[in-house]
Amino acid sequence: MNFKCNRQRRITSWNKKIGGYVVAELINGRELSKKIKQEIKEEIVKLREKTGKIPGLAVILVGDDPASQTYVRMKGKACADAGIYSVTYKMPIEITENEIINEIERINENENIDGILVQLPLPKHINESAILEKIKISKDIDGFHPHNVGKLSVGLDGFVPCTPLGVMEMLEEYKVEIKGKNAVVVGASNIVGKPMAALLLNENATVEICHIYTDDLKKHTLNADILVVGVGKPGLIKKDMVKKGAVVIDVGTSKVDGKIVGDVEFDEVEKIASKITPVPGGVGPMTIALLLKNTLKAFKRRLL
Ligand code: NAD
Repeated sequence: MNFKCNRQRRITSWNKKIGGYVVAELINGRELSKKIKQEIKEEIVKLREKTGKIPGLAVILVGDDPASQTYVRMKGKACADAGIYSVTYKMPIEITENEIINEIERINENENIDGILVQLPLPKHINESAILEKIKISKDIDGFHPHNVGKLSVGLDGFVPCTPLGVMEMLEEYKVEIKGKNAVVVGASNIVGKPMAALLLNENATVEICHIYTDDLKKHTLNADILVVGVGKPGLIKKDMVKKGAVVIDVGTSKVDGKIVGDVEFDEVEKIASKITPVPGGVGPMTIALLLKNTLKAFKRRLL
């Protein structure tokens, strides 16, 4: 088991009745993330008193994609609120791979920086893996370096991508039993689906991974006691694809008519599921909280 969660951090959840249906308990990522961020903030105050130092995060942002700029701003604000020093390296879209690598090598040696995050996606002319492999393993707080990916796959304690780690914290907080359960992960990216499946497997779930080439998705999702969906296709998961009483985690985020929506038809599926995450207010805020937590972990490993 390579993640830890404070079991005392229980938050209030609610059940409601609509038209005779008992709807699923809402897994409130917004509230849980606030609690985690508060705990991180308090720990940083104590560590600062003890060591005179605070954690530092460097963010590399290439190009001017508005969504990436928004995410980077949100991460910077979350760092400031938690007492983490953060700096953003803004690079023009025409920058070369070598120039980015040179900058990463400089930041690798910067003693004020504990974590390095490369905001993805990178422009098409840049080889993403070539860049991510240059991040010092001890500063790879996104857990994308093959070394940390390998550690996750053999169940060793390394850095784990923030989004699936946030999902694990939600499952623990809401006392979802994982061992021996059927977990189905829809989406198989390196950022969400694959590490999610590895985490669930490390907790002894029986795991299936589905992706764009999976034949008859519904046949698989109906097996799920725990269903995690990270695809980016609104409405992909309908109520007839969900087993009664399943725990449904919606990682998807897409913009439809100016609103953020997930991959799951929430209004219908909440009548079938036992617990469900909303979008927004579910996995999204947890990702940022876990980014701070991973940065703090890197800082503590360096100092303590
Ligand atoms: P991606 O495009 O890299 O991967 C999508 C995956 O979905 C692929 O494995 C693909 O095979 C699979 N897929 C596509 N169509 C499918 C279908 N019809 N049926 C089954 N599988 C299908 O995307 P990603 O980076 O993994 O992100 C996935 C979603 O999660 C996006 O909506 C993204 O915005 C969201 N996301 C949210 C957070 C968060 O913090 N909430 C973080 C990361 C990603």
